Amino acid sequence: MPLNRRVNRLLALIALVVVSVFIVRKINHSGTQQVSQQQQQEESLRPTDPKHPGSSPPSPNPLLQEVGEPDGILTHVGDTDRPRANATLLSLVRNSELRGIVRTMQDIERTFNSKFNYPWTFFNDEPFTEEFKRRTQAMTKAPCRYELIPKEHWETPPWINKDIVAVSGQILVEDDIMYAKQQSYHKMCRWNSGMFYKHPALKDVRWYWRIEPNTRYYCSIDYDVFRYMEDNDKTYGYVINIYDAPQSIRTLWPTTMEFVAQHPEYVNPNNALQWLTDSEIRPDHNAIANGYSTCHFWSNFEIGDMNFFRSDAYDKYFEYLDHAGGFFYERWGDAPVHSIGLGLFLDKSKIHWFKDIGYLHMPYYNCPASKKCSGCHAGRFTDAGYLNRENCIDNFFKYVHSD
Ligand code: GDP
Ligand code: MN
Repeated sequence: MPLNRRVNRLLALIALVVVSVFIVRKINHSGTQQVSQQQQQEESLRPTDPKHPGSSPPSPNPLLQEVGEPDGILTHVGDTDRPRANATLLSLVRNSELRGIVRTMQDIERTFNSKFNYPWTFFNDEPFTEEFKRRTQAMTKAPCRYELIPKEHWETPPWINKDIVAVSGQILVEDDIMYAKQQSYHKMCRWNSGMFYKHPALKDVRWYWRIEPNTRYYCSIDYDVFRYMEDNDKTYGYVINIYDAPQSIRTLWPTTMEFVAQHPEYVNPNNALQWLTDSEIRPDHNAIANGYSTCHFWSNFEIGDMNFFRSDAYDKYFEYLDHAGGFFYERWGDAPVHSIGLGLFLDKSKIHWFKDIGYLHMPYYNCPASKKCSGCHAGRFTDAGYLNRENCIDNFFKYVHSD
């Protein structure tokens, strides 16, 4: 064989070996990735010892037993002799979220409000466009109100130091906290924590159902949820209980403890303190959040009594937090703030799990087994298996109630 043919063959052989090694390595690598992803998913679905952080709930899933309407006094469609509650469907929303809110209104009207006709109140820090008003009003026969938020309820308060916001924002970024530097998000969390119930448009309204764009509702609700709350002495209703990112609320619990030390009289004797302070299930969360489990009612859904939030206990608590600055120096969310306020200052028997309301705010569901529901998988908390560990509803049952 001539020399240059031999050299060519040799080169071709070397190239073949190099390519094969590369392909084999690639296959092995994606294989391990797949296996580890699968392991991660299985891990998150496996019921394990609650002493180990990250284990998923060990008890049977109550959403898998046929879920009916709650016990107690109920007002059904057609019970015309019973007065309606003083209530509104309430949504803080941007003009740019018109499609998302229309879609959610469609669900709410189909499952509930076409039967009960409660008014909608929309809030925005900018004026709503004519198109927004026209297209949302077209979704319901109930009246819609469109309210501007006063600047003094929305803008960053004057005692917040912008240099500190810049530095602490960087720390939040390093901690991978979503919306770390998005100031509008911080303002939104503050408004939902302590401002919504002070808006003049709600002055004479008691009950609200908070509704976010792009959330989904899957089950027919045939009783008046507001009357249910009022007639059965409930103050706050939720659907989902989850852990928060502890790095977003490092000083929320210590600041809360300062307030409580000054105002021990506000703490309800039948409080949910144990739920708030659990350190067994995710000790890492409790450690980073300095004593708070981070378990909270996910406040993108809530049905509540604004008189609770207007009470001295809660409102003074909010004012204290507001002056401490954590809505801007950290990323305190309205969900943990509401939850801590409720857990400390309210009789825990007044908190209700609306397990019969099928709900999705990405990526979490509340989905009951019921003939009244369609479109979600009964009992499923999330489509992403590894997120099951974020569910802490078992924690709430353990310490608060197990209805
Ligand atoms: P997430 O659920 O925590 O990711 O936050 P969202 O982006 O869903 O915001 C929560 C709610 O506040 C939604 O109803 C939004 O439409 C609303 N929202 C958030 N930021 C603003 C804002 O700057 N202006 C207005 N008008 N609404 C806002
Ligand atoms: Mn949202």
